[in-house]
Amino acid sequence: MRVVVLHDGNDLAEWRTHARALLADGLLPSDVQWQVGEIAGLLPADASPADDKPAVKTGTVPREFLSLADTVLAHADARRHAVLYRLLWRMTHGERHVLGIASDDDVAWCEQAAKAVRRDMHKMKAFVRFREVKQLEGSVFIAWFEPSHAILSRVAPFFVRRFAGMHWSILTPARSVHWDGQTLTFGAGAQKGDAPNEDALEALWLTYFANVFNPARLKVQAMKNEMPVRYWKNLPEAVLIPGLIRDATARMDAMVQSAPTTPKKHIPAPVERIAMSLPDGSIDALRRQAQQCRACPLWEPATQTVFGEGRDDARVMVIGEQPGDQEDLAGRPFVGPAGQLFDRALAQAGIARDALYITNTVKHFKFEPRGKRRLHARANAQEQAACRPWLLAEIERVAPKAIVCLGAMAAQAIFGRSFRLLEQRGQWIDLDDGTRAFATVHPSYLLRLPDERARHEATAHFVRDLSMLCEVMT
Ligand code: SF4
Repeated sequence: MRVVVLHDGNDLAEWRTHARALLADGLLPSDVQWQVGEIAGLLPADASPADDKPAVKTGTVPREFLSLADTVLAHADARRHAVLYRLLWRMTHGERHVLGIASDDDVAWCEQAAKAVRRDMHKMKAFVRFREVKQLEGSVFIAWFEPSHAILSRVAPFFVRRFAGMHWSILTPARSVHWDGQTLTFGAGAQKGDAPNEDALEALWLTYFANVFNPARLKVQAMKNEMPVRYWKNLPEAVLIPGLIRDATARMDAMVQSAPTTPKKHIPAPVERIAMSLPDGSIDALRRQAQQCRACPLWEPATQTVFGEGRDDARVMVIGEQPGDQEDLAGRPFVGPAGQLFDRALAQAGIARDALYITNTVKHFKFEPRGKRRLHARANAQEQAACRPWLLAEIERVAPKAIVCLGAMAAQAIFGRSFRLLEQRGQWIDLDDGTRAFATVHPSYLLRLPDERARHEATAHFVRDLSMLCEVMT
């Protein structure tokens, strides 16, 4: 029996080095015992086979096996090294295609383990909740999470992409990871008490979660499958769930019994003022909170939340529809081709972009993958409704004198579903709170016009619409 002691039980390179040496020595899987950690008296003999033995050629194994092994090694089950070595042995001793036999016990075990690891990664992406800790140098966001498997280094790049502009740490019992805006570093494990319990934005998040909860769509088992109860203890919104489930039937009965509402035709609805309790502070607080929004499915495939930008005391707020591919990557609204056309039109109208506050109706990029391309897809009514509190909160904070809506989605968010852009374009409408607003086309519409002359005329019309803002700019 040979005992192999691994320093890091999750590292493919280390496991592979040992496995190749075992194969070269002809060690049967049943003659190998795998252990993790430095065990006194065992380590020197088998710790570094590559150091004191010549490189051994053991033949190649399918790339598919290495990929599977890499994922399986993140699993917490102590049998993983032995099962993988048994598979490797079989592949190199007459069963090269065993991976293609789904009913094989070893293959099935590895596939199940890999699936569990991938599921754990998905849950971590969905259920990490950062809490803000204010420091002299700025805010740091800290989250506590208890993964079932060794997935931290695999999931960390996702959070780097998603929260590139923030300083954050994710603490877990086994390891911690820190991002300072430039460098990702890993450290020792931590305890739950090392992470903050709540922050100033928690009340907003809870109110928001309760507001977007729809009792008519409640499916308790499906919810528990997607959001397993074991994660609830670290989710701030989990305290609301039992009460929301308990009251769902009564709320749904009330919805059924209430009289249907008939929208008034062609009468713009006023902008609602937000009913949520908002945190004190600047629009930056909202922006940071929105980075963690999970209120609709659009957050997951997108790179980041694209929140509004500009002066938080702007006299004019510009509302577009939703971010595009380039906005998603840059994390800023109106920076792609449509944004560049918009900038040129603003310049022709004599308006400085930096005097405005510019945002979108929906804050995440929705797309359909086509090969390496991401094709724009329109956010549906549910996604628009889920994102509406953020738009209303921005209007509440900036309190502009005038609003210009670019495109039908933005216009209907402000004036109501009965608004017709073609009929009411370029007409000032007084909202109930005194804000003046009008709608015009979205610059992407101009880019799509196939005829150059038509595009030229439509752009001139667009510039004339934007010129209407000059009277409220001062
Ligand atoms: S699109 Fe809006 S509601 Fe949906 S996750 Fe993004 S910020 Fe939240």
